[in-house]
Amino acid sequence: MAVITPLLKGLAFTLSRFFSKPVTIQYPEEKREPAERWRGLHRLKSENGRLKCVACGLCEAVCPASVITVEAKETPDGRRFPERFVVEVTRCIFCGYCEEACPKDAIELTRNYEFCGYTREEFHMTRDVLAKN
Ligand code: SF4
Ligand code: SF4
Repeated sequence: MAVITPLLKGLAFTLSRFFSKPVTIQYPEEKREPAERWRGLHRLKSENGRLKCVACGLCEAVCPASVITVEAKETPDGRRFPERFVVEVTRCIFCGYCEEACPKDAIELTRNYEFCGYTREEFHMTRDVLAKN
């Protein structure tokens, strides 16, 4: 009896789960809505068809994980822009400091958590990838 009782209790518990709503979802067909304050992949914002980033390097300087690389260039009319802008997201801690530090409101952390790849290089998110995110 000492063996049967826990067994019956276990079976009863398992059977009771058959009639309760599952807590799992069928990802990727079903997607869970991230929390309001979720910080996901970065986006470089645009305005009037141009990146708002002026390649000042403040985000690069403030990043505690040193994962941002910015290289500036100037247009003939003297407008600065990031010729190269890379975020190594595998080392990013998604603290949001880059977004806070930006004087131009040019970068934000989106709620996109769906980025994957097979090599480390695929996680070196470039300017054009971040602009389309
Ligand atoms: S979220 Fe934080 S760790 Fe990631 S790139 Fe921005 S400042 Fe660096
Ligand atoms: S994203 Fe903002 S802080 Fe970073 S280089 Fe561009 S303008 Fe400067």
